[in-house]
Amino acid sequence: MNIFSKDKLPELSKDILDKITKVVGVNGILINSTDMEPYLKESRGIFVGNSPAIIRPKSTTEVAAVVNICSEHKVAMVPQGGNTGLCGGGIASGEIIINLERLNKVRDVDPYNYTMTVDAGCILAELQKTAEENSRYFPLSLGAEGSCQIGGNLATNAGGTAVLRYGNTRELTLGLEVVLPNGKIWDGLKSLRKDNTGYNLKQIFIGSEGTLGVITGAVLKLFPIPLERQTSFVALKNLETVIELLSKARLASADTISTFELIPRIGLDLSLKHFPGTVDPMLDKHEYYALIEFESGSKNSGLNLVMERFLSEAHEEELLVDAVICQSVNQREQMWFIREGMVLAQSLEGASIKNDVSVPISKVPEFIHRANTVLSNYFPGIRPIAFGHIGDGNIHYNLQQPIGADNEKFLSRWHDITDMVVEIVDDLKGSFSAEHGIGMFKVNELLKYKSAVEIELMQNIKKSFDPTGIMNPGKIL
Ligand SMILES: Cc1cc2nc3c(=O)[nH]c(=O)nc-3n(C[C@H](O)[C@H](O)[C@H](O)COP(=O)(O)OP(=O)(O)OC[C@H]3O[C@@H](n4cnc5c(N)ncnc54)[C@H](O)[C@@H]3O)c2cc1C
Repeated sequence: MNIFSKDKLPELSKDILDKITKVVGVNGILINSTDMEPYLKESRGIFVGNSPAIIRPKSTTEVAAVVNICSEHKVAMVPQGGNTGLCGGGIASGEIIINLERLNKVRDVDPYNYTMTVDAGCILAELQKTAEENSRYFPLSLGAEGSCQIGGNLATNAGGTAVLRYGNTRELTLGLEVVLPNGKIWDGLKSLRKDNTGYNLKQIFIGSEGTLGVITGAVLKLFPIPLERQTSFVALKNLETVIELLSKARLASADTISTFELIPRIGLDLSLKHFPGTVDPMLDKHEYYALIEFESGSKNSGLNLVMERFLSEAHEEELLVDAVICQSVNQREQMWFIREGMVLAQSLEGASIKNDVSVPISKVPEFIHRANTVLSNYFPGIRPIAFGHIGDGNIHYNLQQPIGADNEKFLSRWHDITDMVVEIVDDLKGSFSAEHGIGMFKVNELLKYKSAVEIELMQNIKKSFDPTGIMNPGKIL
């Protein structure tokens, strides 16, 4: 029998529910369908699940006691954070949900160690604030930061806008505390930068999407607060020059570059169309733009001169054709609005098939050209929108339905279109999931594109942590 199958897992009985209620109290459990509704579906409504109960423990020992009961009775569980994930990883199909929202305290801030130790249920934006109140900077930043939890960020190894300079959540984590599927607590809350004592267990849990245990706490790295930023919006000569421009920007800024985002003209046009207050930063139209940001830890550091010199040299070398340097906070916000607004503008424009992929940075132009050609031949009139964090080789490769096309008809080609994109990504030794993880959405791709050796290793890891398959079954594997 497949140990990952949910079929053999029993229903939740009243007796088990009573035992769990004793642990978390009546406020710690939701069984009324209206109360449970927000926990059962993801924000876009693509994944809608069901569950007999939402359990909301408020301490690590409560989580451990609940998991212990579930382990004893072989009751399957889905760990859940802010439920902002886009791959259905936190959605239940009959399992109980363990939501960490009440486990939300900052346990300790150590400014001299540049670390903070936090509960897994803390909201990301709150942690950014906590760091700032302690004159430190926590750089993880993404669109859902007002509602996602750090536990969810850890479980999905979240990326976001500052990966180029600070890395993914994986690089921002020094220690973890995890409740294992058998109810034992692993206390790995070390705040060390150096610790060469065998297997690095925390890295196995980071990105494991709740399939190996419930993350209950973490030690996170902090940084000096950037005191100065220089932001520019540049028009590229063509897509090929973007790679050389990025490389030059890294050298020119001594790698204090924090943002390098690709913006295609079609994305800018959609922002201009759907958000009337948006301003086109340049008089002429260009096919591709980049939003570039340098940071410095000190004020009056001469960063403006660094940016100016970089842009002027890049212009002389014909890597770019035009550039605007932001002169105010307001202007910077406008530039970022173009970047962030593109996402919502695509939804307002109609149907969009989204791919979040990565390729080696040097292969970004080749990927975009190849994918555009293949997709345009397959579906005439399709509107490819390639944008995003290309400083990390991460491209949001979205396909907008042809103007006037029937949305449903277009969306019915989702799998064919995604397959074509992923084939090219695979050929370039890229990844079909640069952010967001696998959840239940990309299980087939995982099985198709990972080698047999990798799948076997992953299955063995899963079996050794969760031999009865009760922790988030059906996700990843
Ligand atoms: C507008 C928007 C923008 C986004 N931008 C980005 C982006 O730039 N980069 C990016 O990487 N993602 C992005 N995301 C996706 C999402 O916000 C992230 O994946 C986030 O890290 C998920 O956190 P969450 O608390 O909402 O987790 P959930 O959605 O609740 O869960 C996600 C997964 O983590 C597991 N999980 C959650 N908490 C725990 C825990 N404590 N222990 C064990 N497992 C757990 C769940 O089982 C599930 O598999 C975006 C989402 C939205 C809606």
